[in-house]
Amino acid sequence: MTPTIYGMFEPNTGSWQYVIADTATMMAAIVDPVLDYDPVTQTLTDRAANSLVIFIKELGLRVDKILETHIPEDHVSAAPYLQRWFACDQGYIPPIYLSRRVKEHLNAVKPNEKPCREEYRGSCLKFLTDEETFNIGELEVVAVPLQGHSPHHLGYKIGDNVLCGDTVLHPDIGTARGDLPGGNAHELFESFFREGASL
Ligand SMILES: [Zn+2]
Repeated sequence: MTPTIYGMFEPNTGSWQYVIADTATMMAAIVDPVLDYDPVTQTLTDRAANSLVIFIKELGLRVDKILETHIPEDHVSAAPYLQRWFACDQGYIPPIYLSRRVKEHLNAVKPNEKPCREEYRGSCLKFLTDEETFNIGELEVVAVPLQGHSPHHLGYKIGDNVLCGDTVLHPDIGTARGDLPGGNAHELFESFFREGASL
């Protein structure tokens, strides 16, 4: 099966968000949704997340799951917000998928050091082991480890595509960062070439 992948750019945070759709079943997954952050007023809004909702509803897709490549240090996730929205709309909760390595990373850090993690409190989470496979409708997805930008980073491999989060960034926006908490530039380099070479 060939996935249909839509990319949506959020300019305030410089973030790419994706919707992966299986047109045979009309099931979909959202990847790395963000809340808009205005650095001048230091406020968050749900404008980009609501645009995703409208886009998905217009296509007639049902959101089966929400995939996070990592818990972001460089933007704020909209996954919990969208989980609540689609749970009410669809009558079932699309779990938020994360690497199992998130648990180790978060346990190693004092709770008050990373306030953005609070956004996940009370959410329905599903933790993936490296190389675990799962489905979006009839599409098979593999969770591939891509440490470097974050220690718990995952890429989502679907056919010939790997949605890799901030492991690779568009050259007009900036290169991938290895200097955030838990990041490692050497691991980032190895992840990029290991996964790139496998395609
Ligand atoms: Zn990031």
